[in-house]
Amino acid sequence: RQVDPAIEAIADRMRLVKHKILVMSGKGGVGKSTVSATLARALAERNPDKQVAVLDVDICGPSQPRMMGAENEQVHQSANGWSPIFIEDNLSLMSIGFLLGGRDDAVIWRGPRKNGMIKQFLKDVDWGELDYLIIDTPPGTSDEHISIVQYLLQASYVDGAILVTTPQEVSLLDVRKEVNFCRKTKVPIMGVVENMSAFVCPCCQTESTIFPATTGGARKMCEEMEMTFLGSIPLDPRVAQAADQGKSFLMEHADSPAATAFLDLAQKV
Ligand code: ADP
Repeated sequence: RQVDPAIEAIADRMRLVKHKILVMSGKGGVGKSTVSATLARALAERNPDKQVAVLDVDICGPSQPRMMGAENEQVHQSANGWSPIFIEDNLSLMSIGFLLGGRDDAVIWRGPRKNGMIKQFLKDVDWGELDYLIIDTPPGTSDEHISIVQYLLQASYVDGAILVTTPQEVSLLDVRKEVNFCRKTKVPIMGVVENMSAFVCPCCQTESTIFPATTGGARKMCEEMEMTFLGSIPLDPRVAQAADQGKSFLMEHADSPAATAFLDLAQKV
């Protein structure tokens, strides 16, 4: 039987990675990248003896370099592959953003080029040994998702997918598409995170609901569809601020309800 050498190369890399977690969302703008970045930071902070990495394959909007404060970094290639950028001693990042000439380059790429890039990413990044690899995927379910999942499943395995939504109906409806995708491709669903579920006033810490969840929100959807509800993360303007500044929200605002929610999430994965 002929084996695709690329799949073998991916298998060699992935043998060193204990947990591979996809982060997905039905829509853009619901906080998928923020959740990927902050979850990775929370895992790294909670487990100083473990190695955590983020792989940003959000081809049309790679935001991890900015969120992780690594926007001006350059990735280097060695005999052993591309070296990821270290954000902390035990937290590294590889993003498609590092490889694009201009910010808007990849938007016009066609499918085969995107797939080639994804394959290269999975086989050529020199992570070394990892405990957690968090994969930030594009919004929706695209050809890129199919490629990532196919390559990973042929070469290795995935622990599962974390689905991110807001409590808003349009976002919840689209999560159902992600659920179908996962079920069809046999990717286990680790659970659903409801992001921006309530607004915490920075002055008085009072919580208000921003997006009306007419059907009971993500928790109810999880009950109906027999999925794990992984928790709610409040909308806190400081989350967006920290992301824009490339800082760790967890370090800057350790005592906030949002930080607690992110740390709780890290404990559940
Ligand atoms: P996606 O990856 O789904 O497109 P992002 O992670 O880029 O979404 O988030 C969209 C916007 O919402 C960003 O400006 C981000 O900083 C902001 N954001 C995400 N989560 C929160 C939150 N819990 N509180 C406040 N702002 C948030």
